Amino acid sequence: MTGRPLVITGALYVDMGQQARGGDRWVRPPRARYECLLCRTVDGPVIGAEDVIAFVASAQTSHRDICTANREGVQAA
Ligand SMILES: [Zn+2]
Repeated sequence: MTGRPLVITGALYVDMGQQARGGDRWVRPPRARYECLLCRTVDGPVIGAEDVIAFVASAQTSHRDICTANREGVQAA
């Protein structure tokens, strides 16, 4: 524990999907979206395994750069 209060600023939702038996096609393709709790922006959803992997890796950091709430210096009360 660091002692710092944990401030939740965003939520990353990931659905890993479901592959058909044999794995040759998707019954339900993977999808992901990111919701910023500060500015209420929703990025995504992105659909498809490769897109989801890339999105999950970068969604939070890439949104931080464009977050309007962050730019205005919003602080947790
Ligand atoms: Zn934001």
